Amino acid sequence: EFESAPLPNATDSSPLVRRANATLLMLARNSDADGAVRSMRDLEDRFNRNFQYPWVFLNDEPFDDNFKKRVSVLTTAPVSFGVIPKDMWHQPPWIDEERASAARQKMVDDNIIYGGSLSYRNMCRFNSGFFYRHELLQPYRYYWRVEPDVHFHCNINIDPFVYMQDNNKTYGFTITMYEFQATIPTLWSAVREFAALNPQYVARDNSMGFMSDDGGTKYNGCHFWSNFEIADMDFWRGEAYSAFFNYLDSKGGFYYERWGDAPVHSIGAALLTSRSQIQFFREVGYEHNPYTHCPKEEDLWERGRCSCDPARSFDYDGYSCMSRWEKFMD
Ligand code: GDP
Ligand code: MN
Repeated sequence: EFESAPLPNATDSSPLVRRANATLLMLARNSDADGAVRSMRDLEDRFNRNFQYPWVFLNDEPFDDNFKKRVSVLTTAPVSFGVIPKDMWHQPPWIDEERASAARQKMVDDNIIYGGSLSYRNMCRFNSGFFYRHELLQPYRYYWRVEPDVHFHCNINIDPFVYMQDNNKTYGFTITMYEFQATIPTLWSAVREFAALNPQYVARDNSMGFMSDDGGTKYNGCHFWSNFEIADMDFWRGEAYSAFFNYLDSKGGFYYERWGDAPVHSIGAALLTSRSQIQFFREVGYEHNPYTHCPKEEDLWERGRCSCDPARSFDYDGYSCMSRWEKFMD
């Protein structure tokens, strides 16, 4: 016996239907059109056909007509397409290119994933510190990050944006795991320097205990997997995170190493917000190759009519940080 709550509908003029100031956001290339369609089809079916949040697509090149046509047909909500300004995407001129290219070559030799890629580094830096400054995102406070070729396995019956707003949440995730330390050799020391120089920004009830097992000396690598994010851009735009990003950026680690937006966002949220502002969206069945989060709670799985197998949820994988998160939050 399933009970389905009445769903809000954007065409419903009832004052009881509350929506948040939010958008669905996808960064993609023209060549990602098939994957973009698959992700969008899933999220529209499982969530957005009932909520009608607008979509924003960003690209470092103009989207072509084929891409625009194929994604626009999938929704009745507004869709907009933006080009990323060059200074938000490219390696800044003050980076020592000789040092950066030597670092890329070394990572190729060491077989580190995306180790030789400059565009991947541009993408990580853009996602860490720039996307929320793009003009198409200025009207919005909350965003849901969606990537090409991801899957949503459960009906999402409540509005996660409204939930974030009503419960003073800043950052929401579904999957947490260990980072490859070889991509971030000096990130943690830069974070420690920042925290020592700017103690006023460190949140009193922060989550550093989730990321370090020795009181902050060493990083254990746990971070939130940022290909799924529901978050508050007022936090990224605020004084504390802006100072944090600028400090990290000044170290050049996005180019001299291969700092990912996942550890940067995660450590930023852990250090600069209280632990109660970080939300694990356990009811959201989510898959990004090769990992899936599937709700293990039977009531959530049933209510969501989930198409994933809870027994294969990444939460129990040895590479997942979920058990650490649950212990930390207990
Ligand atoms: P992975 O998940 O770390 O393996 O990285 P992805 O290849 O999925 O890239 C992460 C996100 O950035 C996805 O939304 C991609 O579509 C997007 N992306 C990566 N590289 C580029 C690029 O050079 N240009 C654009 N426009 N998007 C990119
Ligand atoms: Mn991806």
